[in-house]
Amino acid sequence: MKQSTDVANVTAGVDIGGTKMTFILWSGGSVFYKTILPYTARSNGKFEELMQKGMTDLMQHAAGAGTAIAATGIGCAGMADQKLGILRFSPNMPGVHDVPLVEVVAGLTGAPAFLENDANCALFAEWVSGVAVGHRNVAMLSVGTGVGGALILDGHLYVGRHGYAGEMGHIPMVERGLVCGCGRHGCLETIASGTGIERYAKRALTRGSASQMTMEDAASARTIAVFAHNGDRLARQAFSQSARALGRAAGGIINLLDPDMIVLGGGVSESGLLMDEMKHVAQRRSLPLLFDGVEFAEAYYRNDAGAIGAALLAQELLAGHAVYAL
Ligand SMILES: [Zn+2]
Repeated sequence: MKQSTDVANVTAGVDIGGTKMTFILWSGGSVFYKTILPYTARSNGKFEELMQKGMTDLMQHAAGAGTAIAATGIGCAGMADQKLGILRFSPNMPGVHDVPLVEVVAGLTGAPAFLENDANCALFAEWVSGVAVGHRNVAMLSVGTGVGGALILDGHLYVGRHGYAGEMGHIPMVERGLVCGCGRHGCLETIASGTGIERYAKRALTRGSASQMTMEDAASARTIAVFAHNGDRLARQAFSQSARALGRAAGGIINLLDPDMIVLGGGVSESGLLMDEMKHVAQRRSLPLLFDGVEFAEAYYRNDAGAIGAALLAQELLAGHAVYAL
């Protein structure tokens, strides 16, 4: 929490994840207030209650600093209908459906509110003030519990026909693969996500593969990363199979879009165990003329990427800037 002196133009950013809601006040290019609410809502009522609690807290802090929230950006995991301002559903939030988030938040603050997918918000943050500044075509892969993705194409956030474009985690990778959270089989997410890494390690342990890890260790991608850094072969393999799948997907994305940059983000990528092999495989799996000169960058923004990106998005939309591809 740091206090900025520039409180004239304050926007709020909200990131709704599977386990917590992050609320920030953004002003003068930095976060000047942040609060995190653990998220366990399994119903619309409880969900809206948490939103109200977080937003009221932000409004009180803005008022205490002698200002008010000019706009709110809401980043949300799952299917966010940005045109209607409604969260349709999120695989990680059973019981929460069709929440009119924009109406709820705008009703509280009396200021405009905007809804967007959390991965799109994270890439927007990188593009406006992170590693992707100045690039016109950028694809982001975000590896956490699942695998998210987002696209900046021709200098605009690309959301597609329904507004849901960039779901890289659900690129079908395996013919008869595991069932994914989306209900389909063999998606990138089933292999490359934190959950996929844990599943690989647990299965190998069950089959008797040699490792220093216990079954309990293998239940956390973060712990597996520690073992991998200490040279545990199985732990390294678990990350390697993720990195190779990400590399194949990145190769396909490069062939499809001819981007300037691929950004790798998300909590699991912070292990530092994915980038090198992903890049190597992407090179082998894409056309040389297209791979030539593509930059690979690790995301600059960490835990607050979604909330900061949401606040930046709100700022741009409030100013009437053309954020989205037509
Ligand atoms: Zn899927």
